[in-house]
Amino acid sequence: MFTRLCQRRLIPGLNRHFSISSLRQEAPPPNLRSSFASVQPRKLGPSAPKPPAPELPTPGWFRYSPWSDKFQGSHKTRVLLQALLYALVIAQATNYVDSTLFFKPSKSEEAAPKYATPSQLKTAIEKLRQTFPESGRVDTNPDAVKTAGSSENSYHPSSAHSVIVRPQSTEDVVKVVNIAREFKVPVTAYSGATSLEGHFSGYPSGSICLDLSGMDKILHINEDDSDLVCQAGTRWEDINQTLKAKGIPLFFPLDPGPGATIGGMVGTGCSGTNAVRYGTAKAEWFLNLTVVLPTGEVIKTRRRSRKSSAGWDATKLFIGAEGTLGIVTEATLRLAPALPTKVAMAQFPDVRQAVSAVQEILNTSYGPHVQCVELLDDNMMEAINKAGLVDQAYPVQDTLFFKIQGDEAAIDLTSKTIKTIVKKHGSSKFKFAATADEAENLWQNRKYALMSTLAAHPDSRCWTTDVCVPVSRLPQLVLETKKDLSETGLNSTIVGHVGDGNFHALILFRDDEELEKVNQAVHRIVHRALAMDGTCTGEHGVGVGKKEYLSQELGPGTIALMKQVKKAVDPDNIMNPGKLYPD
Ligand SMILES: Cc1cc2nc3c(=O)[nH]c(=O)nc-3n(C[C@H](O)[C@H](O)[C@H](O)COP(=O)(O)OP(=O)(O)OC[C@H]3O[C@@H](n4cnc5c(N)ncnc54)[C@H](O)[C@@H]3O)c2cc1C
Repeated sequence: MFTRLCQRRLIPGLNRHFSISSLRQEAPPPNLRSSFASVQPRKLGPSAPKPPAPELPTPGWFRYSPWSDKFQGSHKTRVLLQALLYALVIAQATNYVDSTLFFKPSKSEEAAPKYATPSQLKTAIEKLRQTFPESGRVDTNPDAVKTAGSSENSYHPSSAHSVIVRPQSTEDVVKVVNIAREFKVPVTAYSGATSLEGHFSGYPSGSICLDLSGMDKILHINEDDSDLVCQAGTRWEDINQTLKAKGIPLFFPLDPGPGATIGGMVGTGCSGTNAVRYGTAKAEWFLNLTVVLPTGEVIKTRRRSRKSSAGWDATKLFIGAEGTLGIVTEATLRLAPALPTKVAMAQFPDVRQAVSAVQEILNTSYGPHVQCVELLDDNMMEAINKAGLVDQAYPVQDTLFFKIQGDEAAIDLTSKTIKTIVKKHGSSKFKFAATADEAENLWQNRKYALMSTLAAHPDSRCWTTDVCVPVSRLPQLVLETKKDLSETGLNSTIVGHVGDGNFHALILFRDDEELEKVNQAVHRIVHRALAMDGTCTGEHGVGVGKKEYLSQELGPGTIALMKQVKKAVDPDNIMNPGKLYPD
């Protein structure tokens, strides 16, 4: 095609010199200036042959053209240059044809999911009603769908859902997922609704809220195997109460927010105060999961055996996936022996000394007897006193709460070790809870830190954020954060699972101006943690709120891998879109 263009003189000057061999045989060109000047005008008769067109003077740059007879390079250079230029022209032409005839969407257009139109959404809801005709199973009450799409503990942008569906079994979930897939309606799993980063918000173009809180049955307790099978909507507190009530000396050690359920705990990859001794949801507390995939297929990630090396761990794929890869409907949980515990507290002149003591304690041979170590800063202790939740006010100082477990001798020796170490780090006070009731109360105060913080500041709302760093960096992180927060002029409290390097800042605000200050402060806390080789979230998960930090934390390769997995499992992106993966 290129040769033809030259022959038709569409690319002037090229055809003449296309053949290299003819170029070489050509006589040297006459002096163009003088021959042009010597041309005389002639009168021509009708049959007279046309005179040759006068040759135009050759511009100087022609000597750089590999098709020009003025080209000064070697024969080899001429051939190479010509080949290169032909290749460039062909590539450009191919690109042009490709982009005009075969339209490709831009990256953002490619990423934009195509969801149900309003009329398709209406048809999908109608089909859900026909599938679940019983009262209360399909709910479009405007207040209910709005409440289900937002959380009073999260200040990220949120949308109401279009409909709430309340399944009772795995088969029900399959039916909902099939309808969601057929009409391309996003579907968000929802159960305890205690997550803090906008995890269960609705999708702006319409979405189904799959409320699994009614699937809350414990199906089997296998005491001899120390495991238990339950539905995804079961609360962790109900599991432990049931085991206690039945006299079974076992417990499930993951303890996130009050009211959290197994499905949501898998979703956020949670942990809690017990993590220092028992690890997080990413340890092997979930032996297997029953999951409804976006295709509607039901899988079991593993069997019930305590361990398995049969391939990679499919269970883990769903832990921390925030409902973006499938809906968990049942789980087999591993249980731990319930051991006698005692609660103690130690108070410190400053937060850095308190946190520094922790690692030294955990590294002694009595470290494994420490079930929990929690930091409550001076502001938190003041909030507990102010909230009026305790009979006797605590001294307002940075405080460590310990749960020590084991038999009497182990508890005694561990306590002595702790007492010696905290004293070395400046603690003036180390005290055991005198009675089981006092111990219970002490611990409740820690678990209800958010409620105490709010109760102490009734005119405020509270933003809770969590970060985690290598434990040795925690004293510096907490100290810098406390200084930063006090400079903002905002009220705040700090609580932390300090044995893991994890802490939460609970920052209060009263209006939009203060909310913006909180937003900025959270941003600074996250960047401080990332700079210390930490993570933007130790246990609360990503949701909407921490998406923007994930690329910096994990790097482009890991993010690309996560997105590839998501695309392979959920090609229509119907499972909880807009959460977890950076935009
Ligand atoms: C006062 C308070 C204290 C807290 N303390 C802690 C703490 O110490 N440690 C901690 O880790 N967290 C803590 N949290 C956060 C929260 O309790 C956890 O994130 C918890 O794991 C959420 O469980 P949930 O049942 O409430 O889930 P939800 O909020 O209902 O959902 C969480 C996520 O999981 C998904 N999901 C829900 N069910 C399923 C399912 N069946 N299948 C697939 N995905 C599903 C949802 O779509 C969503 O993305 C606290 C929260 C509060 C309010």
